[in-house]
Amino acid sequence: MGRQGGRVTVIVLLGAPGAGKGTQAPALAARLGIPVMASGDLLRKAVADGTPLGREADRYMSRGQLVPDETIVRVFLDRLEAPDAVDGAILDGFPRTKVQAEALDAVLAEAGRQVDRAGYIDVPLEDLVTRMANRRICTANGHIYNLVSNPPQVDLVCQLDGSALVQRADDAEETVRARMAQQVPPLLDVVDHYKRQGVLVTVDGRQEIDAVTEALLRAFADAGVA
Ligand code: AMP
Repeated sequence: MGRQGGRVTVIVLLGAPGAGKGTQAPALAARLGIPVMASGDLLRKAVADGTPLGREADRYMSRGQLVPDETIVRVFLDRLEAPDAVDGAILDGFPRTKVQAEALDAVLAEAGRQVDRAGYIDVPLEDLVTRMANRRICTANGHIYNLVSNPPQVDLVCQLDGSALVQRADDAEETVRARMAQQVPPLLDVVDHYKRQGVLVTVDGRQEIDAVTEALLRAFADAGVA
């Protein structure tokens, strides 16, 4: 559960685009009883709603670039203050740079909290491009499928909510390559940041979906978190 001996559990999920953060986060949330806060979902909703944030974010997202630190830090850390995060949260997609990781540390420290565990889902780069070409998400809630490794029961229909499955605009091959080139180096800085703090656990992200979930839960449990 979220509270461990009165404490709040904050888990960060790390991985390159396509490593499986968005698939693993809800599975972990269900098992640990704490909500997921996904920066990509937050931004995609702002884009769909046409808010000023969405218009700004879209300029970067559509090119596979990171949204500027000061923008995402402000928006995401606000979200973390929401009442549903009182017992903790699983952070999916944030932090993505060292600046963001330090901003998160500072906000948590003010509240007497900290990142308890950072789970790094490690997948070789060459596997990621293939995965993303086959990724489809549902239009209603962003549920994630893979046409090869995790296909829906009915072609291009979400089996959880019946909405249509589409390819994310930024999953087109050219954009995927730009995302990898721009996002992997700062990701490795963030991995290093949590390694230094002694909270990093690494799992092999090439395993079956359920096996990755179990590996993460075991690693968190060994660390006294789950
Ligand atoms: P995701 O769904 O996590 O792959 O995020 C989709 C896109 O949103 C990324 O390619 C970035 O353009 C943007 N984004 C999401 N989270 C962040 C973040 N923490 N910092 C900067 N940009 C982000």
